[in-house]
Amino acid sequence: MYQVGIFGEKLSHSLSPVFQNVAFEYCEIQALYEIWELSPDQLLERVNLLRQSNTLGANVTIPYKELAYNMVDELDETALQIGAINTIVNNSGVLKGYNTDITGFIRSLKEVASFLPSGKNVLILGAGGAARAAIFGLLNENVNSITVANRTEGRAVKMLDDFGVNKEIFKTMSIYDKNLTQVSLNSDLIINATSVGMQHSEMEDETLLSAHQIPRNCVVYDIVYNPLLTPLLKNAQIAGAEIMQGLWMLIFQGVDSFELWTGKSAPVQKMYKKAMETFDSQH
Ligand code: NAP
Repeated sequence: MYQVGIFGEKLSHSLSPVFQNVAFEYCEIQALYEIWELSPDQLLERVNLLRQSNTLGANVTIPYKELAYNMVDELDETALQIGAINTIVNNSGVLKGYNTDITGFIRSLKEVASFLPSGKNVLILGAGGAARAAIFGLLNENVNSITVANRTEGRAVKMLDDFGVNKEIFKTMSIYDKNLTQVSLNSDLIINATSVGMQHSEMEDETLLSAHQIPRNCVVYDIVYNPLLTPLLKNAQIAGAEIMQGLWMLIFQGVDSFELWTGKSAPVQKMYKKAMETFDSQH
């Protein structure tokens, strides 16, 4: 039986074992995906154990994505550029790091929403870790413009400075800027990468855009996946826009990881269905 699992600090609610084990079973691969909770001082030793021949690799989640980046032998191009990994593949004892948060996000847009980013105008709400992954993915997709609106505008400016890329396609603004409505109405893709709308927070009933600020011919992707239908997505439905639930981002980072570990096509719909069922039963 092959081993694979997820490194993190607090993982009791992680959905990854649920949908990865369904995929292994469906593809008839003798592997078990486990939860590997550990403290920072245990990480290096545990990463080194991934070199064993019965181990496929691992996922890495908060707060170890940057730490683990420095512990692998090789890095794929995207991981190298962003400086963080969420996937480790064991290639006969050589560990290679990948960032499927980025590749999976773009893949989910293309495969689930049939959205091709090339030439499109994108509005991203937020400038934290999730926004970084989304923007980084879009950088390679030849988009027409990306506007980053954040509560703390200086954080958005700093993030774009860190990227050090072609600035012409980028704008930053405050989420309180009165021009937000106009930018939003001109967008083909709106991404919420803030924690606004997240259940069990003081912002759980809130949304940064009302229905009249959302155009009909647009895709609205809420990276928040708890709840599955956030206040923003409800407004997007009222506006007649297409919605993308944050659960897809979670699933597709796992889809890309699965395919890197196994070389087989992941059963995306089966993974999504199992994650939905488990999520529903937990809430
Ligand atoms: P983060 O790095 O802490 O960033 C949080 C972002 O939310 C910042 O832009 C912050 O603005 C903004 N924000 C927080 N409270 C706000 C408020 N009251 N009003 C307006 N903006 C507010 O967090 P993250 O890692 O990017 O995660 C963001 C969300 O994405 C979380 O809900 C997380 O669960 C979700 N997520 C989902 C996936 C997935 O697979 N679907 C993956 C990663 C994360 P400031 O800069 O002004 O503080």
